[in-house]
Amino acid sequence: MNKISNHLPTNELQALDAAHHMHPFTANAELADTGALVITRADGVNLTDSEGNQILDAMSGLWCVNIGYGRTELADAAARQMRELPYYNTFFQTTHVPAIALASKLAELAPHDLNNVFYACSGSEANDTNIRLVRHYWAAKGKPTKKTIISRHNAYHGSTMGGASLGGMKGMHAQGGLPIPDIDYIDQPNWYVEGGDTDPAEFGLERARQLETKIAELGADNVAAFIAEPVQGAGGVIIPPETYWPEIQRICDAHEILLIADEVICGFGRTGNWFGSQTFGIKPDIMTIAKGLSSGYAPIGGSMVSDEVADVVGKAGEFNHGYTYSGHPVSCAVALENLRILEEEKLIENVRENTAPYLAKRWAELEAHPLVGQARICGMMGALALTPDKASRAKFASEVGVVGLICRNRCFANHLIMRHVGDQMIISPPLTMSRADIDRMIELAVKSLDETLVIMRAEGLMKAA
Ligand SMILES: *Cc1c(COP(=O)(O)O)cnc(C)c1O
Repeated sequence: MNKISNHLPTNELQALDAAHHMHPFTANAELADTGALVITRADGVNLTDSEGNQILDAMSGLWCVNIGYGRTELADAAARQMRELPYYNTFFQTTHVPAIALASKLAELAPHDLNNVFYACSGSEANDTNIRLVRHYWAAKGKPTKKTIISRHNAYHGSTMGGASLGGMKGMHAQGGLPIPDIDYIDQPNWYVEGGDTDPAEFGLERARQLETKIAELGADNVAAFIAEPVQGAGGVIIPPETYWPEIQRICDAHEILLIADEVICGFGRTGNWFGSQTFGIKPDIMTIAKGLSSGYAPIGGSMVSDEVADVVGKAGEFNHGYTYSGHPVSCAVALENLRILEEEKLIENVRENTAPYLAKRWAELEAHPLVGQARICGMMGALALTPDKASRAKFASEVGVVGLICRNRCFANHLIMRHVGDQMIISPPLTMSRADIDRMIELAVKSLDETLVIMRAEGLMKAA
C-alpha cells in the first residue's frame, strides 16, 4: 500500500507536507509552523478535511469547480478515455477524437466567430500562447512592430513568465526578473478603492481612456493587443462600472488593437452567461479559457481564436509553438463531459434566473454589517470590502491584509472557505450552489464577520489610515 493515505493522522500528514511539499503562493516556513489544512474528499459544495469536518467551499477550489464536486460522470469519462487512448499528440499532422469533439463544441458555445481553439494545459500557458500568437499574427500581416501588449495593474493572468508578465501583480514582478519586455500597463477600474469622489460611470470612462492615452504614447503601430479579465478575479473581484467595457471596445476597434478577454474565471457560467464577454457585451479577438472548462477535474486550458486571426496565422506557415499535452485526450474527454452537464442540466440558466439573483439579494444584506463598506456581486462571484469607515471608504490603519487575514481565519474556523485579497473578502462558489447553501454561506459569513469585529475592537484595529 502507498505510504501516503488518508489514514495517517493529520499531524503526520502535515509534517510530511511541511518537510517535502513547496506550496504555491505560500510562505512555506510559516506554514510549516501551523500545518496545512488537509482536504481528503469533497461532494457537491462541501469539502471534508482529515479530521472529518465538513467545510463549505465558497471558492470552488480556485474558482474552478463550477459543476461542484463528486460528479462521477467525469471520473467515468476519464477512465474510459484512459483505457481507449490515454495519450497522443497533435503536433505532427495527427489528431484524435476528444480534441476534435471538444474543439467543435467550444466553437459552438463561444460567441461570434471565436471558432478556433489552441489547446494548453492551464490558463497561464494559454496566455503565453496568446503573447506569441498576437505578435506572430501582426508579423504575418506585415506589421512586425506591433508587439506591445497592454494590460492592467493588479490584473492576474497566470504564473508563468509570460502569464505573470501580462499580470500586473507587483509582488510577482518583484521576484524572478519580471516582466518580460514589451508589456505595458494601465490602471484598473477599481472604483471602490481608487475612485475617490468621482462617480462610478465617469470613473469607468476615465480608466478606459487610459488605454487610448497609452496607445497614443506607444504609437498604435507598436501595440499588438490589450488583455483584461471581464471581471478581475484574483485582484479582488473588481467589477468594472458599466461604462468601462464599451469604451475599451471602441478604443481597440479605433486603433486596430486586438482584444484578448481572459475568461479563465469568467468563462463557463461564472457571470451568469457562458462567457463574461457576453455579460459585458464585448467582442474579443481571443479568449483565454481554463478553470471552469473542466470544472478543475482535469488540467486543461486554451485560447479561443477568431476566424480572422486563425486564418492569418494558419496561412503564415508553421507556428512554432505547442505543449506536449496540448489537447490531452483525457482532459478533453473530461471537459466535454463537464460541458455536457453544464448544458443539459441548464446550470448557467439556473444561475442567471434563480441562484445569482438570490445570492445578490442575500449578499447585499451584508452591507449592513459594521465592517462592510461594499458588498458587490456579479453572477456567482462577489466581494466584501472591509472598512473602518463606510462613508469615506477608508482603509485600515493596519497594514493592508491584516484585517482580511483575521476574517479569513475566522471563516476557516467556522468551516467556510472564503478568501481574502488585502482587506476584501471574496467568494466564487460552485454554480450548483442552492438557495439553502447560499443561506448557510451567508450565516457563516456573518458569524465570521462578527467574530472579526470583536477581535478588531479588542486589538484596537478599527482605525482608519
Ligand atoms: C487562474 C487564472 C489564470 C491562470 O490559470 P492557471 O490554470 O492557474 O495557469 C489566468 N488568468 C486568470 C484570469 C486566472 O484567474
